Amino acid sequence: MIYHARHFRTGEAVAVTVEAGRIVACSPSDQRPTLWIAPAFFDPQINGARGISFNAPTLTPLQVQTVVEVCRRHGIGSFCPTLITGSFEALRHGFATLAQAMDEDKRLAQRIAGFHLEGPYLSAEDGPRGAHPKDYIRDPDWDEFRHWQDAAGGRIRMVTLAPERPGALAFIEKLTASGVVAAIGHTAATSAQIRDAVKAGACTSTHLGNGCHATLPRHDNYLWEQLACDDLWASIIPDGHHLPATVVKCITRIKGVQRLLITCDASSLAGMPPGLYHEWGADLEVLPNGKIVVRGTPFLAGSGHFTDTCVANCIRMAGLSLAEAIDLASAQPRRLLNLPPATLEVGAKADFILFEWEPNGELCIHHIVDEFSSFSIAGRGSSET
Ligand SMILES: [Zn+2]
Repeated sequence: MIYHARHFRTGEAVAVTVEAGRIVACSPSDQRPTLWIAPAFFDPQINGARGISFNAPTLTPLQVQTVVEVCRRHGIGSFCPTLITGSFEALRHGFATLAQAMDEDKRLAQRIAGFHLEGPYLSAEDGPRGAHPKDYIRDPDWDEFRHWQDAAGGRIRMVTLAPERPGALAFIEKLTASGVVAAIGHTAATSAQIRDAVKAGACTSTHLGNGCHATLPRHDNYLWEQLACDDLWASIIPDGHHLPATVVKCITRIKGVQRLLITCDASSLAGMPPGLYHEWGADLEVLPNGKIVVRGTPFLAGSGHFTDTCVANCIRMAGLSLAEAIDLASAQPRRLLNLPPATLEVGAKADFILFEWEPNGELCIHHIVDEFSSFSIAGRGSSET
């Protein structure tokens, strides 16, 4: 199969040939394609979609597969299923089911890179806690985590926690020593506690600018501290609801594209129609504009959008090039998790997207291709020969 499209980095027309799941040629094309080609997205934080929550005590391998397919329609070739704060048993079940799904299907094993545990070792304060259920917020417990890591078959690659909780610094040291990325998030830490977390091995901030108090001391606060720390990466959610454009632009300028990544943080309600829902022990509402909130509060409960929307938004909000924004949603999260990059180079496994995009417009996925399949999104034109 040969795909003709404009290379996301150069804008030049290229012909990418795939045989047996690998790219065997990438050469100039004599056609004038309108679609673009780029490595598929990698999102480090997906909580579910279309009413399926990875936290659900009834999660099945088939539901895991459904979420993977929904994500692929948005150009997400691989991601980290993310479990949030819950009971010991709910999280054990979630990780065991995800591991079972990957063990049973080698395609899922390629499309899921590892798991992200966001919680339960977070701040219990309103604001930093976000939509995490207060009853299950607790202090870090390495034995408890080890049980979850065993259930996951060792696939938990990232843990987001609040460093001010008792025992958090030793926990971060253990995570780091075991090769798990320790991320700061949903925190009410002092500036000194942020600095101590970084010394202990924390290397990134999770969705910086969200999971925060509504008001903060203007200078001495955890936002400035994380922004100023050159040893911390950051993820942001540029879905149009979590952060205003000015904040997306400022964080992007401060961190630079080398220490930044995009996540959509898709909620289990992503892709659901507006209405009232009950998830994770909380009453949530999907608003007509796609925003998902804890009912009757301004607190956001994950995103209703996916990575494709976030990439297009980031270009507009932060003035990035297409290539820079794609890197934030593909190469950068892979770098953070120490995974090999997805590339368009000869010899690479097929793992790319073809999409429609105009400067300052939306990004519309037409195809997603990996070593197992070439999936054309229904109703959209073809660029295959
Ligand atoms: Zn969060």
